[in-house]
Amino acid sequence: MALDLSAVQASENVWKMAQRQLDDVAGLIGLNDSIHGYLREPKRVLEVSVPVRMDSGKFHMFKGYRVQHNMSRGPAKGGIRFHPDVTLDEVKALAMWMTWKCALVNIPFGGAKGGVICDPKSMSEQELENLTRRFTSEISVIIGPEKDIPAPDVYTTPQIMAWIMDTFSMQKGYSIPGVVTGKPLAVGGSLGRDKATARGCLYVTGEAMQTLGIPVYGARVAIQGFGNAGMYAAELMAEAGYKIVAVSDSRGGVANPKGLDIAGVVAHKKETGSVVGFTGGERIDNHDLLEYDCEVLVPAALEKVIARENAPRIRAKIVAEAANGPTLPEADKILHERGIMVLPDILANAGGVTVSYFEWVQDLQENFWEEDEINQRLRQKMTRAFKETYEQSQRHGIDMRRGAYAVAVSRVAEATRLRGLYP
Ligand code: NAD
Repeated sequence: MALDLSAVQASENVWKMAQRQLDDVAGLIGLNDSIHGYLREPKRVLEVSVPVRMDSGKFHMFKGYRVQHNMSRGPAKGGIRFHPDVTLDEVKALAMWMTWKCALVNIPFGGAKGGVICDPKSMSEQELENLTRRFTSEISVIIGPEKDIPAPDVYTTPQIMAWIMDTFSMQKGYSIPGVVTGKPLAVGGSLGRDKATARGCLYVTGEAMQTLGIPVYGARVAIQGFGNAGMYAAELMAEAGYKIVAVSDSRGGVANPKGLDIAGVVAHKKETGSVVGFTGGERIDNHDLLEYDCEVLVPAALEKVIARENAPRIRAKIVAEAANGPTLPEADKILHERGIMVLPDILANAGGVTVSYFEWVQDLQENFWEEDEINQRLRQKMTRAFKETYEQSQRHGIDMRRGAYAVAVSRVAEATRLRGLYP
């Protein structure tokens, strides 16, 4: 029977969860107490009120945040989320995870994240543009190509990135494409960025399959979330020979143990706005999807969906966290004890920020690369990060999340130590 996790999830504070994940690895890597204390807190938190002219002619006040967790290794980097459930604690957690993610794939960025409390699905295109432009203007005091570079996240799109780039550029008086990544190609975007999160997830899942000796061809995959991360993961994994047996979005899911026709599901989603109602499978809900019989489970929607209550019933052998923070710490422990390999978010979805880094480099150099070169460089970064993570997990007898944290936190701690304390 499906389990209602809303009460459990609501009681878990995602920022405390992020801090606990850091604490968990501090002893293991011998993290200096002072640096541990430093890394437990965000460097900078900006809360802004965003007045927006709505189609009715009235102003509506929105609340938004930009959090910079750490900049020891370079400018801060992280997406902007538009969602009704955004909270400051959530943005702080997401910013901290960005710090570890950039360090794990070894790109010269720190971590940041932004969010606006809004319901983009109920807003017109004009209202979204007004909101994006005013929010950009409000946070422009702390963003910039050398300071902090936003990108897309839940319910923010390449078009929204173009508006951010334009607003920032208009304020400065010249075009500054490097202020934001995930832009359309016509305004300095990178080939391969749209599918990069999913492609990175495909690469590390492939490494995990090989490590565990599971053949890729015909391996069953269930994917929760059918947006940038989830939909492209479904397409790329189907192309690579996996069998996608279940997918879902915010309205529910569809499943077929014989495999779903992904091109058909994508067309249905484009036409109706949801995967629900696709006739090539039977309807399931989001909780059932997580427990669906498969080799690979890809949570690609929101946080805290795998908890103590449903972890014992997860049937996958690999959980590839395309979403940020889908697994609660208690659930991590259960999955590890059950021999399920969790590819943690900071590894499994790091493809997005990696190609964002490539986009930023191309923008600064005003020199654009071919897609093959981008995918090849992405594969190198993802494979190396997987191997380093796996090596740590084997050496210390720990799960892959702690392995990834051991690599990432050590790098950030080293940079922090070398730079010393100012003044
Ligand atoms: P998106 O807006 O493109 O898609 C989100 C998807 O999740 C949609 O299909 C939506 O219907 C679904 N969804 C929303 N609420 C849901 C619910 N309660 N249950 C099931 N599905 C639900 O967003 P995205 O960019 O694909 O982001 C998804 C996750 O991936 C987030 O955790 C995000 O932080 C993470 N991520 C995204 C990127 C990126 O480059 N876009 C990079 C790294 C991590």
